[in-house]
This record gives sequence, structure tokens and C-alpha cells, in this order.
Amino acid sequence: MSRRLVVLGAPGAGKGTQAARISEHLGIPTISTGALFRSHMAARDELGTLVAGYIDAGNLVPDEVTTRMVAERLAEPDVVEGFILDGYPRNLAQAEQLDVMLADRPLDAVVEFVVDTEAVVERLLRRAEIEGRSDDTADVIRHRIEVYHENTAPLVDHYRGRGLLLEVDAMGQIDDVTERTLAALENA
Ligand code: ADP
Repeated sequence: MSRRLVVLGAPGAGKGTQAARISEHLGIPTISTGALFRSHMAARDELGTLVAGYIDAGNLVPDEVTTRMVAERLAEPDVVEGFILDGYPRNLAQAEQLDVMLADRPLDAVVEFVVDTEAVVERLLRRAEIEGRSDDTADVIRHRIEVYHENTAPLVDHYRGRGLLLEVDAMGQIDDVTERTLAALENA
């Protein structure tokens, strides 16, 4: 089964939730750039201070900052059996940078979690009440969705063109989405 994976999807598509489940199922780590940034922000360290303004506004953190963080993470020993990248790449430049980083251990598959954007705004507003993420306000959510469509959505065609894309319907029950994802990966 594919082991070097990227998950794509609009904000609120549930990619973080699904990535955690697939990661457990396959016994490989998830590398979530959003979660990494948030832990730096909570620690109020140098990187956290640098990225907070971008994240709170719903803008992308500059590529060189994100790429350096991902490159360091991918150099750690626990990724030898594979990994799930959640939140990276987020634009075509990052996709090219990822290819350079991976070199002789290329991606096996890219999973796109397909959702209805309107339904997703509601999910995110509900999550905001539970998790209290600083970038989960209605305006910032709308902006993150625009940023997704402009910067990240082109990656869907990019990876489809390379024969790596697996589209998964991400509406409906969490368990069903996980099952569809694992089935898609097994058949890939
Ligand atoms: P979501 O997918 O719900 O928007 P994430 O947790 O993946 O949330 O990302 C939160 C924020 O972290 C993004 O809006 C962006 O500011 C920043 N971020 C995460 N990954 C990247 C990336 N690859 N490049 C630039 N910024 C990123």
C-alpha cells in the first residue's frame, strides 16, 4: 500500500482528522504544517512569532519558512517507512520544492478530500467553538477558502496529471470517509 502520501482538501474538508486515522492505520507519522505552526505559536518561540500574523489573517506563511520546516521534519528517522503530509504542499512552488526534498523516495499518492465548500464553512464555525483556533472566525475562514482555491486547488490537476491523484468524497460520516480513503489507497 502507498506509504508516502499527501492529503489535499479545502479548509474544513477534514483532512487533519482523516490523516490522523490513516496514519494510525498504516503506522506512519502525519506531518501537519498547520499543527506544527500552532505548536510554535503556543510556545511563543521565534518561528511561532514569525508566522502568527500570516496564520491569523488566513494567509500563507512564506514558502521558504514552511519549506525549511518541512525539510527538517522529513530528515527525521521516523519517516523511513512513509509519512502523510497534511498542509504541504499548498502551492505549485512548494510542490516543486517537495520533489527536490524527496528526490529518490517520491510520493506514492495524493488524496484529495472533496467537499462542498458551504457545508465546510459551517463545520469550521462549529470547530471554532470547540478548539478556539485563532484563524477560525467567519471572515478568516472565507479568506482561507479563497486562498485554497487560488493557490492550492491547482495542485489537484498537477497531481492528476502525474497519475498520483485519488479523489475521495469527504462529505458524510467520518468513519465512512476513512473507509473510502483506505480502500482507494489499497486499490491504487
Ligand atoms: P486549514 O487546512 O484548516 O486551513 P491548516 O492547519 O492546514 O488549516 O493551516 C493553518 C494555516 O497555517 C494556514 O492558513 C496557513 O496560514 C498556514 N500554513 C499551513 N501550511 C502551510 C503551507 N504549506 N504554506 C504556507 N502556509 C501554511
